[in-house]
Amino acid sequence: MRLRLAQNICCLVLFFCAAIPSFAQCPFPAPNSAIVLTYTFDPIVEGNQMTLRVTLEFNGNSKGTDKLILPSDWAGQQHLENSIGEIKALSAGTTIADTSSPSEKLIRFSPNTLVRISYVLKKDWEGPLNGSTRFRADLSPSYFHLVGTSSLVYPKLKSFEPVDARFNWQQLPPTWSLATSFGADNRCQSFHGLWTYALNSLFVGGDYRIRRTGTSGHALIFAIRGQWSFTDDQWITDVTRIVEFERRFWHDDNFPYLLVTLTPVDKERGDTGGTALTNAFMMHLSRQDDLPEETLAILAHEEFHLWNPDKIGLPPGSDFPVSWFFEGFTLFYQDVMLLRAGVIDFPTYLEVTNRKLQEYALSDGVNATLADFIRTQTAHQSALDQLDYKRGAVLALWLDSTIRARTENKSSLDDLMFRMVDQNSQYEKLYHHPLLLTNRRIFHTVSQMAGGAIAKSLRKYVEKGGTIPIPENALGPCAQSHIERIPRFDLGFDIASLTSPQKIISGVEPNSEAYKAGVRDGQQAQGWSIYGGDISKQVRVTIKVPNGKRNITYYPRGAEAPVQQFSLDQTKYAASPSQCSPR
Ligand SMILES: [Zn+2]
Repeated sequence: MRLRLAQNICCLVLFFCAAIPSFAQCPFPAPNSAIVLTYTFDPIVEGNQMTLRVTLEFNGNSKGTDKLILPSDWAGQQHLENSIGEIKALSAGTTIADTSSPSEKLIRFSPNTLVRISYVLKKDWEGPLNGSTRFRADLSPSYFHLVGTSSLVYPKLKSFEPVDARFNWQQLPPTWSLATSFGADNRCQSFHGLWTYALNSLFVGGDYRIRRTGTSGHALIFAIRGQWSFTDDQWITDVTRIVEFERRFWHDDNFPYLLVTLTPVDKERGDTGGTALTNAFMMHLSRQDDLPEETLAILAHEEFHLWNPDKIGLPPGSDFPVSWFFEGFTLFYQDVMLLRAGVIDFPTYLEVTNRKLQEYALSDGVNATLADFIRTQTAHQSALDQLDYKRGAVLALWLDSTIRARTENKSSLDDLMFRMVDQNSQYEKLYHHPLLLTNRRIFHTVSQMAGGAIAKSLRKYVEKGGTIPIPENALGPCAQSHIERIPRFDLGFDIASLTSPQKIISGVEPNSEAYKAGVRDGQQAQGWSIYGGDISKQVRVTIKVPNGKRNITYYPRGAEAPVQQFSLDQTKYAASPSQCSPR
């Protein structure tokens, strides 16, 4: 019913559009910069598909020629330009021509005039909404979910150029909700600031339920769609608690507006993703999942990104040289925030910390250098997948406990983080754009704060990798450190053979648990269940046999490796849990 109603409304809107060619104008505030871009969105519903006709106006330069930039690659998604169709020049004397790049066009126009173009934004992908497709334009007759980076076409601009970006949503059906990085429900939205922030934006609308709460007088907007195993109220309470706690931690309440979207992916369980964008973070979850600690940890993680790196600085070009800092340290802090906010208890914190120590110590990348990691990432390889997160999280624990030990608990990693934010805000006041976040800057700041020896060790771990021994008292008075031998995750055969066209198993290792359970080269797989990286869950492979099928199960455990772990002193914890928190 909802779908049919939405279609009828859109058809009605279209009828009026056809009859009255000029759009209703928005009363935008006077611009504060020389560059003004105005986007107008006009929904078109055909059958069970919805597209948006986007009209862009901008003031053309004095040369009369410019490049038009289409979305290209982002967040592991490629050829995002496929979602852009029917690019047309609307202003008189304007032409658009192809270039050798599919994501760039050449536009010519009368110099110093208002240039007007239009394009159709469409959903260019099929299959389920999941951890990958959630980054692409998602449009349907009942809702839309767009990120500026994968949806907006624009004249070539520098990331740090101040702009006025305006968004006219007046053509949306009147019953549709709207929430974006720049406002909720108001259909005429504008933003003044750096182009990178205008582009790194989130726009949702349709059947999203919009809820507003305030935290310390500032707007916190929720946009939620779908039915969940938890209530909207529960979601809002938990998110608000984490957001408020982190603002207190950073002594920073300068967030006049924050949007949090919640969108269901198609898989019923176990698919979760969160991404921080301008004034917003977008969450995608599986519908059947309850609100476990891992989901709250993702929330805490995304919220933490609003400072690290957003208020600390911008990576110069590629993220990968410094992602150990802004991803790995954020991974460390997400659970520290939950512990300090009282969302998780100390034994849970200890458990997740042990898991992080295992994930690094047992990963393929322990001895990989930073240069190795950067090389594999740019070549789209996954051999060192998430090494930046894994190594960075362990390094943050090491650095925090090392600074605490050296300063007899007078300072900690928190002070380093605050100082990095201070550096950036001082710089921005002077130069009106963010300070670069480089390894040199991080090492220099650590050296100033904690001394050259600690900075030197940090640099060695960042650049060369290897085992990172954590100080014995790193988890406080109620936890003891020991070394445990833990098996690595080892599937025992080549996982890529499962996704080959014939699904013929290959690469079976003779000494593996897979071999011992009966897996052989040449068997044809019909189904499987594998929890990647988890040695506590059995692998199940269903293979084809002459009279039907056969299930093979085994624990994917390979060679053991020594891993530093912490165990809870139950007696001390039971006597006084509040004395146990290490940070
Ligand atoms: Zn992150």
